[in-house]
Order: sequence, then structure tokens, then C-alpha cells
Amino acid sequence: MNLEEYNFWSDRRTQESMKKKLFSVEGYRVKLKGWVKEILDLRAVDYDEKAISIKYEVCTLCSGEGKVVNPSVDASGFSPYNQLDLEDYLSGQYDVTCPKCEGLRVEAFPRFTGGLKEVIDEIKKEEEDYVKSVASEFMMGC
Ligand SMILES: [Zn+2]
Repeated sequence: MNLEEYNFWSDRRTQESMKKKLFSVEGYRVKLKGWVKEILDLRAVDYDEKAISIKYEVCTLCSGEGKVVNPSVDASGFSPYNQLDLEDYLSGQYDVTCPKCEGLRVEAFPRFTGGLKEVIDEIKKEEEDYVKSVASEFMMGC
């Protein structure tokens, strides 16, 4: 494992782009993804998708920019080895659409309640753990 790979895989932007989306948002409507609904059905969770309200906040990953610098470019910072053109860097040449808000600059926070919240929190936690374990396997060079 080299340090650059390690920095890349431990980067928040990289890990965020590996996470499966649990839902999409259309206007102020939450649309749970099919695979999430399957889990909810399996667990016999009673929920009403139309009743889920949403609040929007400035995206926590890109701070409302809608884009981030591609982590493969600067996860390890600047060094004489990666030969970045500082001007290109600052003008956004290495930017990619923010993986968290998908360029919307804001992040939707649905208000899940009751049994739905419990299962969603569980899925989120599993997804986090999964992404971290995959990332750490990459860090170890598996
Ligand atoms: Zn964002």
C-alpha cells in the first residue's frame, strides 16, 4: 500500500461516492429506492412514503458548492510528484459533481419516523460499515 492510495480510499469524497443511495427526492417527495422498500417489506414495516416530510440543508460534503475536487487529484494534497497545475486546480478543472448532493448544493433530510426510521438508520449504518470495510480492503491492497 502506498500513502496516496491510502489517502484516496480514506477520503470522505471517495467513500461518499461508493455509498448506495437510499432514496431520491422529487420536489418535496421522498422516493425510497426499490432495494430499501424490499427490506421494509421483508420486515413488515408499515410506512407511508407520501407522508415523509423533508428539510433541506446546505450540503455537508461540498458546503453548497455542488462540486468537489476529484479526490484522486488531491486526497494526498499537493506534492511535487502529482504535478498539478495550481491555476487549473483553483479554476475548477479537477472538479467533479458532488457525490452527496449530486450537484444540487443542498442535501435533503427526510424525517423518517417510527419503524421506518429504525430500519433506515440500520441500513445507513450497515452501508457506512460496508463502505469503510471495502475502502480499508483497498487501502491494504487486496
Ligand atoms: Zn454536495
